[in-house]
Amino acid sequence: MNVAVCVKQIPDPAGELALDPSTYTLVREGKLILDDSDSYGVEMALQLVEAAGGGEVTLVSMAPNNETSGLRTALAMGAAKAVLISDEALAGSDALGTAKVLAAAVSRIQPDLVLAATESTDGYTGTTPVQLAELLGWPAVTFAKKVEVSPDSVTVQRQTEAGYDEVVSPLPAVVTVTAGVVEPRYPSFKGIMAARSKPVEELTVADLGLEASAVGAAGARQEVISVQAAEERKAGEIVTDEGDAHQRIVAYLEQIKVL
Ligand SMILES: Cc1cc2nc3c(=O)[nH]c(=O)nc-3n(C[C@H](O)[C@H](O)[C@H](O)COP(=O)(O)OP(=O)(O)OC[C@H]3O[C@@H](n4cnc5c(N)ncnc54)[C@H](O)[C@@H]3O)c2cc1C
Repeated sequence: MNVAVCVKQIPDPAGELALDPSTYTLVREGKLILDDSDSYGVEMALQLVEAAGGGEVTLVSMAPNNETSGLRTALAMGAAKAVLISDEALAGSDALGTAKVLAAAVSRIQPDLVLAATESTDGYTGTTPVQLAELLGWPAVTFAKKVEVSPDSVTVQRQTEAGYDEVVSPLPAVVTVTAGVVEPRYPSFKGIMAARSKPVEELTVADLGLEASAVGAAGARQEVISVQAAEERKAGEIVTDEGDAHQRIVAYLEQIKVL
């Protein structure tokens, strides 16, 4: 069982984040870290390969400046190798452009299964994995809380508002994993040392056989045209109970159309 995991490397959300003043896209200079959302996919992939008794986990990431810091974290968790697509032509990519790049990379790897997170922490459109599946012509099963594989199918408990649906799909397939469904392992010291020498194949847009005009700003069908600071949270109203507090709260909830 060979599993590819799409992992996004993102600016540390705990640090200072900045938008480029002309494109309004996130500045992604400097060290990028493994998106916490993707650590669940990595953990699930490792567990699936262990349960299958053979195979390996390959990471796929598109990131600027040949950044590998986040990939090294996932390699230290136990992934065998990584493919990194980094190219100046990718600046300004929208989610579809990203999916085209990931699809081309996945086609080279030919895994049995692709895992991704339901949404990233910084872009959170939640659209990349399903576009990836469409481009590959593979089924997409989203919001997985439990995943089991047999040699030619994957069985997924797909989270719903009421509980879960059980979905069986043929392989290969793309499955998105919700946060918190497994406990991502901490990289051991041995894992961290081993990760330093694990292979990371670095590819450009041309290596993938893609036209530069199909990706990056040139191929983007979305453009951020303005950005506004979110409104500051207003102070709440304190309701002092003089026997009618419940009525005043209900009236307020009706006014804001919650009831
Ligand atoms: C108009 C626009 C302009 C943009 N310009 C830039 C830019 O100039 N530079 C830049 O770096 N980014 C840019 N981005 C963001 C970048 O293209 C995003 O990676 C892409 O849009 C994915 O969207 P998302 O983060 O919402 O992913 P989601 O769909 O929320 O991600 C879900 C999952 O898909 C997988 N995934 C998503 N992105 C990647 C990735 N890059 N590598 C591997 N796996 C991935 C991960 O598993 C992730 O958890 C731009 C986005 C938009 C909409």
